[in-house]
Amino acid sequence: MDILEVKNLKKSYKDTKAVDDVSFDIEEGKIYGILGPNGAGKSTTIKMITGLLKQDEGSVTYEDGQKVTKWSKNIGLVPQDLAVYTELTAEENLNYFAALHGIKGAKKKKKVDETLEFVGLSDVRNKKVSEFSGGMKRRLNIACALVHDPKLIIMDEPTVGIDPQSRNYILERVLDLNKQGISVIYTSHYMEEVEKICDRIIILDKGKVILNDDKENIKNRFLDNQTITVMLEESANEGIKEKLEKIKGVSGIKVEDKKVECTYKVSINPLSDIIECLNTEGNKISNILLTEQDLETVFLSLTGKEQVRRSEERRVGKECRS
Ligand code: ADP
Repeated sequence: MDILEVKNLKKSYKDTKAVDDVSFDIEEGKIYGILGPNGAGKSTTIKMITGLLKQDEGSVTYEDGQKVTKWSKNIGLVPQDLAVYTELTAEENLNYFAALHGIKGAKKKKKVDETLEFVGLSDVRNKKVSEFSGGMKRRLNIACALVHDPKLIIMDEPTVGIDPQSRNYILERVLDLNKQGISVIYTSHYMEEVEKICDRIIILDKGKVILNDDKENIKNRFLDNQTITVMLEESANEGIKEKLEKIKGVSGIKVEDKKVECTYKVSINPLSDIIECLNTEGNKISNILLTEQDLETVFLSLTGKEQVRRSEERRVGKECRS
């Protein structure tokens, strides 16, 4: 069953089409990854589906055709910028967010205790948030979005600027939430995170959906092509390119002096035929390098955004250090 339907959503800022006719459905109980380079329209989409921003065109409907205004009590939003009070303790923050959702008395105490335990902050519940590390603040940011038992949790780049250990902790918690039946929308520009936790992947670029599919389908569709690079002791023999191209399962051959690059179908796996062909043609092999394709390469080939992502990573690295 679909928990959310987004239909033909559009939002422009002057000449910038931030979100340009975006449609997708969110199925209950699944983890969706919304990926895209900086400026792709991820945050604008999230703001519209959570009711923080009004769309120019299109519709956002939740279960049974409800508008976000009616359904928002079921949403837990983890914003990209930390939304916690640093002069309060962890427990005081959660008490505040629970109260905002009308949770009171013994129920509030139980929910606050459970949520602190879930994000691993029980021991520091009475500490001021200003004394927390970046990772602890991120975990509290998530706790604040969970304390009212949402059916759908929406996380906007929840791991930006934190250490790998805290990042893994957060990813494990997201998987735990999902095991409890909570649906998740997770935006990120880190492909490896999305690959680890998501069932379905939506890639946005320049305000448009350029891919929306199950993770496994994407792997099957795009990851069947792998590359093997063979270094020879001497320049490749003439005619080797044409011979290699005839091998079943070989989809491309590039020969440059001593380097032979073969792209092949993993499902057919012609590796032994490639090596045998090179050997019988008298090419002596000095080295072999296998390059595995992953979802990262799919993302890069679809968006062509390697440079943007790398510069972002440098920025994030700087944020971590500062
Ligand atoms: P992402 O979250 O994928 O990085 P955003 O949704 O933040 O992308 O932005 C999409 C595009 O809309 C970008 O070109 C951005 O500069 C522009 N944009 C976003 N918010 C505003 C705003 N408040 N005013 C003007 N332009 C904006």
